[in-house]
Amino acid sequence: MNKALPIPILIFILGLLLMGCSKKSTEIDWVYPDGNHKALIMSYDDGLDDDIVLAQLFDRYGIIGTFHLNSGLLDTRAIWYQGKPNEFVGTYLSKDTLVHVFKNHEIAVHGTYHKALVGLSDEEILEEINVDIENLSILSDRKISSMAYAFGSTNDHVAEVIGTTPLTNARTVKPSYNFELPKDYYLWNPTCHDSEALDYQEAYISLDSPSLSLFYVWGHSWELRDTLRNQNILKFCKEIGDRDDIWYIGAGDFADYHASLKVLEIGPQQIVNPEGNGIVYYREKGQLKSLNPGQRLIY
Ligand SMILES: [Zn+2]
Repeated sequence: MNKALPIPILIFILGLLLMGCSKKSTEIDWVYPDGNHKALIMSYDDGLDDDIVLAQLFDRYGIIGTFHLNSGLLDTRAIWYQGKPNEFVGTYLSKDTLVHVFKNHEIAVHGTYHKALVGLSDEEILEEINVDIENLSILSDRKISSMAYAFGSTNDHVAEVIGTTPLTNARTVKPSYNFELPKDYYLWNPTCHDSEALDYQEAYISLDSPSLSLFYVWGHSWELRDTLRNQNILKFCKEIGDRDDIWYIGAGDFADYHASLKVLEIGPQQIVNPEGNGIVYYREKGQLKSLNPGQRLIY
């Protein structure tokens, strides 16, 4: 005799269970590791030596930057074509200073030679990115997790290819103009370019939401040679830095933490943090608590 429940009833029961789970899980007050609901990522491209001053500015205000470098161009002069042929733009950082300059910041990929990835074969994309990961890992003796698409050049297929590399995230240049966490970490749209950051600063500082949020700003340190732009970034860092309610973090660590939250096993009465996962944090009656890998939270 077949004792199995008819499929529509099974689907109904499963639906109820899932509804129950999502309702329960939203009752947990998940927070970032420092106990906050807000986070800031500052993401900068190209690795010119203007990064040195910007990294120092971030240091002054407790901000962590993610700096995307083209390892094949380090130690060379930046000669770009911006209307005039052979225009000298500046100097790329030198290899032996990276660890010192980015002591408190994340070192990340921008492609070995700053190639636009759309239009390249999969092999060429992987060569451009994997060599950069390898070079930067060796130069910094760190795990390299993040990238930014050179020229913002990407699409669904390119993102899929990047997803096969050891990287956990890749940033576009398409502004989201919101403070939401990304849905696709390989097409991670920042909130805005730094030239617009002041327009969103007050909204983020005054945001008081129980949900996790993120203000993600991107730019180029060499653009900050402009006097007004420089004044604006100083103002921005001074206002948004050193706050108790914002988690200042690199893109790689942020992506890792969110990934840990996403793999929690949420049941009707308990949440299990699987073995091998990262530590996750929540607040209970205002108190910051953690759930270690292998631990369960009964509720
Ligand atoms: Zn670039």
